[in-house]
Parts: sequence; structure tokens; C-alpha cells
Amino acid sequence: MSRGTGSDVVIIGAGVAGCATAYYLAKEGVKATIIERDSVGAHASGFALGAINPLGGVGIPEPLGPLSLESYRLHTELAKTLPQESGVDTEFQLRNALMVAYSQEEAQAMQAHLPWQQAQDGFRVEWESGEEIVAMEPHLAPGIVGGVVMRRVGMVSPYRFNLALLQAAERHGAVLRHGRVVGFRYQNNRIQAVQLEREEVPCHAVVVAMGPWSADASAWLGMDIPVTPLKGQILHLRIGGPGLSYISWGHSYAVTKPDGLVWVGTTEERAGYDESPSAAGRQAIMEPVLKALPYLADAEVVRQTACLRPVTADGLPILGKAPGKEGVVVATGGGRKGIHLGPVMGRIAADLVVHGKTKFDIAALSPGRTVTPAQIAASESDPFRF
Ligand SMILES: Cc1cc2nc3c(=O)[nH]c(=O)nc-3n(C[C@H](O)[C@H](O)[C@H](O)COP(=O)(O)OP(=O)(O)OC[C@H]3O[C@@H](n4cnc5c(N)ncnc54)[C@H](O)[C@@H]3O)c2cc1C
Repeated sequence: MSRGTGSDVVIIGAGVAGCATAYYLAKEGVKATIIERDSVGAHASGFALGAINPLGGVGIPEPLGPLSLESYRLHTELAKTLPQESGVDTEFQLRNALMVAYSQEEAQAMQAHLPWQQAQDGFRVEWESGEEIVAMEPHLAPGIVGGVVMRRVGMVSPYRFNLALLQAAERHGAVLRHGRVVGFRYQNNRIQAVQLEREEVPCHAVVVAMGPWSADASAWLGMDIPVTPLKGQILHLRIGGPGLSYISWGHSYAVTKPDGLVWVGTTEERAGYDESPSAAGRQAIMEPVLKALPYLADAEVVRQTACLRPVTADGLPILGKAPGKEGVVVATGGGRKGIHLGPVMGRIAADLVVHGKTKFDIAALSPGRTVTPAQIAASESDPFRF
């Protein structure tokens, strides 16, 4: 793809993936037009937890480890520059993360990851006994077998981070416009325009960053974009006393965020595109939370949110040029780690638009890749699929 000018690069979706792409394009002097049918951060990118943990998750360390570490590095860089570039405080923090095991099986699964985690520069990762974990976080109920303590895990306020990327990109000439994309127009398989409901926007390059709705682009690309929504809910609790470190166990987590509230989660629900918080979700979150942190029984529920992770069958993002088309890049499928992976996905999508290639190895993420049943099973059984 050749270098774009003006607004001839269109990005669909103003979530973290789309806004990070616009930001890195702006850094290259390319002023993209972002087309969003709702508003910035209106979906998962505005309502996630905001943990930036590069050392665990589906596909880590192989094949996603290098990109995960690079995205963490980009986050730490952005933490210094983005507030000034955008005027938005992203509330980036480096926190201690306690990953707690309640059974020997969980403990063994966590310990298997330790050698790689401990080999990464810049983090301190240690195995601690149950007593030591409770000493660090006295609100935790007894019964813990042990746990991993990771120092320097990142945390952002996702909505602020998303907004900051957009505003910094806008200051460099990117434009956000409202609209729902319904199709693409090609000439000899080269993108010519993005079609909205009542008009079209001419472009020479387009980036599909539509989160779980990226599947809608399958018809426009003539190939399957196998992304599906995985609903997750979070409760924001008010309780007095000192704040909690970032504690996670099973599918659950709890952490005091800069708003002073304890955010607890989460659920993993196959509920189509339904984004409504539910009583069942609230109960599913609170049951394990109260077992682990009984003092939260006195907390006031201030807010309950729900949003949709864009997940793929093998748990890896879909990132690369759309095969058989000229000028189309796909950047989606951040799954449970889309806030964390957003910067590297945006960096790579921008590379592909501007230079037609990237220095990063994205072979395992290519659109149109074949996913084997073994890869699906590995992704679904990964105990660290947070
Ligand atoms: C409960 C929960 C907690 C999470 N916690 C974390 C966490 O701690 N750390 C982490 O790294 N990740 C976390 N995630 C995952 C993260 O939120 C997502 O992976 C990420 O936000 C996805 O970003 P996105 O930009 O790809 O998609 P989205 O945020 O969904 O953005 C896509 C955008 O595209 C727009 N769009 C769609 N179709 C069209 C169209 N046809 N025309 C125009 N616009 C369109 C949508 O309106 C939307 O705004 C969490 C997710 C959930 C549900």
C-alpha cells in the first residue's frame, strides 16, 4: 500500500484498536478518517478493566509473547507522552498483581509459566505461599495454596486511554465521523470506497477495527472474519478502608481503581450481541468474590457494566492484510486482552497501511488462517485466559 494523504485512509471503529491505529498513522503523518456508528469507547474499549499484563493470557508466550511485551513497552511509552499529546490523563499505574491458586492443580499450572515470566526483563515475578499472599493482602480469606506475585503490571482507565488515543490523533489531523459502514466498493479487488448508509467515503486504504462486529465485514471482504462476542460484566463497589492490589483467581478479579472504587469481575457469557448488565451476571461475579474477599459483603454496588470481548476460535487477534484484496487491513480479535494489545495492534496496522509490511512476526495472526481443533481446545482450556 502506498502512503496515504488527507483522509484517504479510513478506519472503521473508534475502540482501542481503531484509535491506536489512527494514533500511529498520525505519527507517520497520515491523517485517517475514523468512522464510528456510536461514539468513542462506547463498547468494550470503554468498559473493560484496563489491566496491562504482558506475562499471561492465551497465546503467551507462544506465539504472542513478543507482541505482548512490545505492547506493554508501548503502553509505558504512551503513559509518558499521551497525557500531554491529548490533554487526557489515562490514569496509567504500575501495580502489584497477585494471582492466587486455590488448588494444587491451579498452583502447578501457574508455576509452569514461571520460568518464562521470570526470564523477562523489567518485572519481578515470584511464587509465594498462601500465608505470604494473605500477609500481603489481609482481606483475602484463608485457604489459598499459593500464588504468583508480579510487580510492575500496568493498569489504565480504558475509556480515558481510548479517548486519549483519539484526541492525540485528532490533534495531528485525524477526523472522527459518525456513520455506520455497510459495505466496500472495489475496482479489480482494490479498495475504492467505504459505503455508509446514505453515501460513500472514497479511500485507498481501510482498516477493519470493528471489535466483535468485525464479523459483519466478512461479506465485504469475501472471506470469513471469525470473531464472536464474549460478554463480560464488571461491578464497581464502594467500601471504606485501604485499597486492594490487583488480585485475580480463576475468572475472577478485584482491584481498587483510581476512582476509589473496587472493580470486581467477571463473567464469560455467550449471549450474542446483548450488552445489558444482568442480575445473573451480578450473582455470578459476587459468589466467588465474597468467598475470596468476604469483607466486600458490606460494599455498596455503585455501578454495573457489561460489554463484549471480540474473541477468535484460537484466542489470537486477527491482524494483517486481507488476502485477495488491495488496501484492506484487519485489526481485531483482541479478546480478553484488547486494551493491552491495542497499541501493538495499532502500530502494526499503521505499518501495513503506510509501508505495506511490518517488522513484527504476525504470521500466526493472519486473516484467513486455518485454525485446527487442537488450537481451539488449547485456547479454551488455557487456565490463564484472562
Ligand atoms: C468485562 C471485560 C473486561 C476486560 N478487561 C480487559 C483488561 O483488563 N485488559 C485488556 O487488555 N482487555 C480487557 N478486555 C478486552 C477489551 O475490552 C477488548 O478486547 C477491546 O476493548 C476490543 O477493542 P476493539 O477496538 O477491538 O473493539 P470495540 O471496543 O468493540 O470497538 C469496536 C468499535 O467499532 C464500532 N463499529 C462496529 N461496527 C461498525 C460499523 N459497521 N460501522 C461503524 N462502526 C462500527 C463499534 O461501535 C465499536 O465502537 C475486557 C473486556 C471485557 C468484556
